[in-house]
Amino acid sequence: MQFSDFGLDSALMSTVEHLGFSEPTLIQQQAIPAAMAGHDLIASSKTGSGKTLAFIIPALQRLNKNRALSKRDPRVVILTPTRELAKQVFTQLRLFTANTQYKAVLILGGENFNDQVKVLEKEPEFIVATPGRLADHLKQGHFYLNGLELLILDEADRMLDLGFSKELSQINQAADHRKRQTLLFSATLDHAQVNDFAKELLKKPKRIAIEAGHTEHIDITKRFYLADNLTQKEALLQHFLATEKSQQVIIFTATRSDTERLAKILTEQDLNAAALSGELNQAQRNQIMDSFAKGQHKILVTTDLASRGLDLVNVSHVINFDMPKHTEEFVHRIGRTGRAGTKGDAISLVGPNDWLSFKNVEAFLQQTISFTKVDGIKVKFKGLKPKKPKAAKVNTDVSKVKTVADNKPRKVIKKTFLDIEDAGAMKIIKRKKALTADQIEESTKKEQD
Ligand code: ADP
Ligand code: MG
Repeated sequence: MQFSDFGLDSALMSTVEHLGFSEPTLIQQQAIPAAMAGHDLIASSKTGSGKTLAFIIPALQRLNKNRALSKRDPRVVILTPTRELAKQVFTQLRLFTANTQYKAVLILGGENFNDQVKVLEKEPEFIVATPGRLADHLKQGHFYLNGLELLILDEADRMLDLGFSKELSQINQAADHRKRQTLLFSATLDHAQVNDFAKELLKKPKRIAIEAGHTEHIDITKRFYLADNLTQKEALLQHFLATEKSQQVIIFTATRSDTERLAKILTEQDLNAAALSGELNQAQRNQIMDSFAKGQHKILVTTDLASRGLDLVNVSHVINFDMPKHTEEFVHRIGRTGRAGTKGDAISLVGPNDWLSFKNVEAFLQQTISFTKVDGIKVKFKGLKPKKPKAAKVNTDVSKVKTVADNKPRKVIKKTFLDIEDAGAMKIIKRKKALTADQIEESTKKEQD
């Protein structure tokens, strides 16, 4: 199947060709015609499978073909859970709007409110936004959604996990008319809240699931190595850099100081490594990401800062020098390799401090993970024993919980808005306390800094 089989209008088709896309991915093959036929969609497929174009292309087709319902209101609103994702979607969208009369704007939490008011006054056709800030502007009457033609929810599961359901409902209600189409994308459709939400937002949706269940990426080989301490982790890292057939490598560390220290060690060995340090300002970070994307560095050492937003086809290896604190961050990190159908290797080092995170990842992946060993590096650490089980806590609010925890030990990751409790192979995610949308956006931002 080719993009030319969709019957796209000629301007859009020539943009697709100009950008070098010829064959649609599986999700695109199914989602684009269904969306073009005017259906609401609830769709899922793995990370890196091309969901962004699966909604950008039908959106542009609709705008090119139909007259605007209103001259002033935005015609397409795309919502994403985080600032980084919004930027990534916006970048792809701009490639498509560059040679059109359409204006596209980016509205993010944590940025200057008045600047955004001015941008909205320009009456853009496209808005890419994080939900909290957009709902604020809507409440204050800085724009209206009576003419909205397409509401697109990217990573809807994550938006709901982050507690944006109120804002999403507000945006939905402001655009409540018959001609509106809604496209909902989610990493998984096996998510109770997403399904409830779909009932509220979507009209007779077509359901498209490219890969059942998980966000697991089939093109990425995952290996896990135990380590006693930092010295051993460094020895393992040296071993991988010396022995793996790699193109570009991203190394994720838990702390900024480790980022700098590792990059320094690698540079001293004449390995071309750059550190994406938290102390840099946004412009400096962008510059480093750009030069890495252009292949000017072989290795990028970073905290979770770069786990989203970076879209690179030459990254053959992702190395988790430390395991990520948040389980879903694991998926985002390893999703930096194996992009657009290339193969990738994800190597994770697990020391005593990583054990809890490791167990959460293992539960999330729903598989028992075995560890790989390296000749010549003797590791004593074999994992931590689970703590004595506490009495199971009875959760009375069954509507929010899929399964009640059994009497296995409860492990709670602190300092997150989501508590990911490990109940054997089951995963229960619930919100700890109500935060305002802007607080969430602000702290997702801090977290990524
Ligand atoms: P997802 O949202 O499913 O995680 P993205 O939309 O970010 O994935 O796409 C991942 C990468 O695949 C991007 O680099 C994108 O440009 C590329 N891509 C998307 N569609 C195609 C296609 N039809 N052919 C080749 N590359 C594609
Ligand atoms: Mg995406």
